[in-house]
Amino acid sequence: MITLAPREFHLFQAAGRDFLYLVPSAAIFALDDITSAVLAAVTGTKRSEDGVVDALAERFDGPTVREAVADLLSVRAIGYEHEPESRTPRVLPLIPAALPTGRTGVIPLTTMVMNVTNQCNLACTYCYEYGEDKIVDTEHGRKPKFMSEQTARESVEFLLRESGSVAHLTFFGGETLLNFPVLQSTVAYGRRRAAELGKSIDFSLTTNATLLKPEIIAFLVENDVGVTISIDGPREMQDRFRVFHNGAGSYDVVAPRIKELLKRHRSKPIAARVTLTSATLDITRIYRHLTEEIGFGEVGFAPVTTSPGQGYAIGERGFDSMLAQFRALAQEWLACSLENRHHGFSNVTESLEEIHKGVSKAYPCGAGLGLLGVSTDGDVALCHRFAGSDAHKLGTVRDGVDRDAQVAFLERNHIADKTDCSRCWARPLCSGGCYHEAHVRYGTTTHPNLHYCEWIRGWTDTCLRLYGELSERNPAFLARFDREEVKAEAVV
Ligand code: SF4
Ligand code: SF4
Repeated sequence: MITLAPREFHLFQAAGRDFLYLVPSAAIFALDDITSAVLAAVTGTKRSEDGVVDALAERFDGPTVREAVADLLSVRAIGYEHEPESRTPRVLPLIPAALPTGRTGVIPLTTMVMNVTNQCNLACTYCYEYGEDKIVDTEHGRKPKFMSEQTARESVEFLLRESGSVAHLTFFGGETLLNFPVLQSTVAYGRRRAAELGKSIDFSLTTNATLLKPEIIAFLVENDVGVTISIDGPREMQDRFRVFHNGAGSYDVVAPRIKELLKRHRSKPIAARVTLTSATLDITRIYRHLTEEIGFGEVGFAPVTTSPGQGYAIGERGFDSMLAQFRALAQEWLACSLENRHHGFSNVTESLEEIHKGVSKAYPCGAGLGLLGVSTDGDVALCHRFAGSDAHKLGTVRDGVDRDAQVAFLERNHIADKTDCSRCWARPLCSGGCYHEAHVRYGTTTHPNLHYCEWIRGWTDTCLRLYGELSERNPAFLARFDREEVKAEAVV
């Protein structure tokens, strides 16, 4: 007897029907009654095809059941026992100088994050750059505190050399605007050089908003620079951790400046990026404040990156609370989307875009691939969070990327080598999670972020359900994800 066996999938319900998320291909299928019944018959009990036909004989005729079995076999939702399952192929991305003979194609650099300074005028208690979990000594280390204009120009040349026709340059810090003169001249230089080379370049920055003075806002508006603002919510939440060096809270300084920016900068959505901690976890209140009282159109949340011992680290119960609140806000997002209205909970929008595009990641993010970070002296690293760390250096803007180091990093960090993740249905979208978080938690980028698996799976399931609801009730809404351009990755 040849026994049928379920393959890797995740079942979920939405809009009153069953859906199947196929793990190896990251494809989603809406199931009809008979296909659901066949899957149920194959799961849990060992049955041959004849056995399945017999088990369902009272509800469905034999030929229809056999057809459903054939359909499920063809998409590899089920297979035959002892037949090897398909795994995530261990194929490295193609990198120009590392191409083995006979392979074609490249993954160009898409986003370069330039740390124009490693200094900050705030002293946020939880900051990964300055707190106890820091990996680069920005105060006493050998890196310059500010990037020079020369290094910035060399960085632009590096980006334009390494990118395809479109390049994103994100300015980052420290507090980015502490080095506004270099930012200003780099935008002008980047535009000119991109035009000369027939490429397109766009600019964005991340800021704590303390230095958003009228002349800086005018520059950002005139130059169409995208802005992400790190802010944690209403006054008492913002001032809990986001304080000046003298301990004073920053809310009263940033709130009016952000409002002015939002009033004047209309060409691009200005995003708020909230760091959640165990002490600031009232997501609904934060969202309402930032959208209704401050005026943000987009708000994204992320749990603080920290070692587990810190008091502000989010523990198991905190993740449960976070998930419940995310789910509630996601329902609001769904209600708006069903009526083609905008809702600014950007965590949902980003996840649904990935689901819609069938993203299946061999790596958790673009770090070391399409995204690279540059430190104040022009060293190139995995991403902005590793910029300045010699242990994670991948070259310099002058000499280019060290392809051997890059390939070695990608070899070590491939999802196929994360054995803890090998049976996880959420791995096409998670792929082990942020390298920086893993480094802070476990001391190495190669370790999957196992402390938040339940949260990741719970949230991914929620997003799949939203996707199922939309695909049944307002499929036209999903078409907007087809039109989305390749965007710069959120940089925080
Ligand atoms: S880190 Fe956890 S949730 Fe993410 S892929 Fe690995 S096992 Fe799954
Ligand atoms: S997810 Fe983590 S490793 Fe990846 S780019 Fe963001 S901070 Fe860097």
